[in-house]
Amino acid sequence: MKGRGIAVLGSTGSIGCNTLRVVESLGDQFKIVALGAGGNIAKLAEQIERHEPELVSVKSEESAEELRGELSRRGVRRPRLLTGEAGMIEVATHERADCVVSATVGAVGFVPTLRALEAGKRVALANKETLVMAGELITRAARDSGAELLPIDSEHNAIHQCLRGEKRAEVRRLVLTASGGPFRTADKGQISEATVAEAMRHPTWEMGAKVTIDSATLMNKGLEVIEAHWLFGFTGDEIAIIVHPESIVHSMIELIDGSVIAQMGVTDMCHAIQYALTYPERQKNLLPPLNLAGLGALHFEAPDMERFPCITLAYRALESGGTLPAAMNAANEVAVGAFIDGRIRMTEIPIVIEKVMKGHETRPVTNLEVVLETDKAARASAHSIIEMLDAEDRRHESGVRSQN
Ligand code: MG
Repeated sequence: MKGRGIAVLGSTGSIGCNTLRVVESLGDQFKIVALGAGGNIAKLAEQIERHEPELVSVKSEESAEELRGELSRRGVRRPRLLTGEAGMIEVATHERADCVVSATVGAVGFVPTLRALEAGKRVALANKETLVMAGELITRAARDSGAELLPIDSEHNAIHQCLRGEKRAEVRRLVLTASGGPFRTADKGQISEATVAEAMRHPTWEMGAKVTIDSATLMNKGLEVIEAHWLFGFTGDEIAIIVHPESIVHSMIELIDGSVIAQMGVTDMCHAIQYALTYPERQKNLLPPLNLAGLGALHFEAPDMERFPCITLAYRALESGGTLPAAMNAANEVAVGAFIDGRIRMTEIPIVIEKVMKGHETRPVTNLEVVLETDKAARASAHSIIEMLDAEDRRHESGVRSQN
């Protein structure tokens, strides 16, 4: 069979689809051998028809049944079909896969990604939650097996590029850029009244729902600070955030002599994906060149920790360490879900997270079970806090009505 084998976890999401596009653009160099996806069966069937993977895993038996129907309707040969987390782990450890692109959203990608690293696969990581939950276990697994961990997250991919050839001792700090999201110039009141549709309107990047809401609260940047800590070995004090609305500078490093190296490019995830697949080589592609003269100006400003308290929560979680980042991550996922479902306001997302963090008893991350227990307990705690906020809201509303 031709090419290096690629397995994709989360193939029908935004990063997953772009990965398949990049693989296709690189011709015979790579071959898709396994795909793992959630519920988007029509898209998945199309991908199977085009890439002919040997193995496919979907969320549930119902999804598998739907996929079988869709494939026979199209007259497409059926790959080996698995379901659930066990199926995702098979995808992540497929014997023909040299590289696993970890592009699921949230905590579901964690165990399969860990297994891929333990199996010595190169992991191209888009799922930042994995490192936030258990950076210690993930980086240890990579060290022990000699597996390479390459970031696809644009900021970390940029820093990976900037650090090439630099000595750790000569780097003073990392500077992560943030677009600032759709509420960069909004006041507190506007943020509190924000609708899901407004929060979904990201100014520069097209992404899935969870990461788009995280970008609106700036929790995305908080998670990325923790991600950078684990990928590059810098402390919270050595990782800064700067708001840069044009998203042209993808991130920077500052050296001990004050020199700053930035990585710039057009805002297209295909660049970072290709870099992670072909590293250490670089290859041509069809992306348009960066037109700085056309842009004219780039802007930078300090992040506002008061309007965006999620950033402070993330720095606090990183500083305290242990299971606290995993608890924070779980609370955030549940709170973002509740916001999308219209149960809480956007400004209540950090309130839920902070309450969960306050109630969490931090333990050292010694093994997988500790992380999974923390994740489960923090989710339960977030759900009950959201229930309470919901009940308060209803009481408040009926109070307002009876006054009128
Ligand atoms: Mg990013």
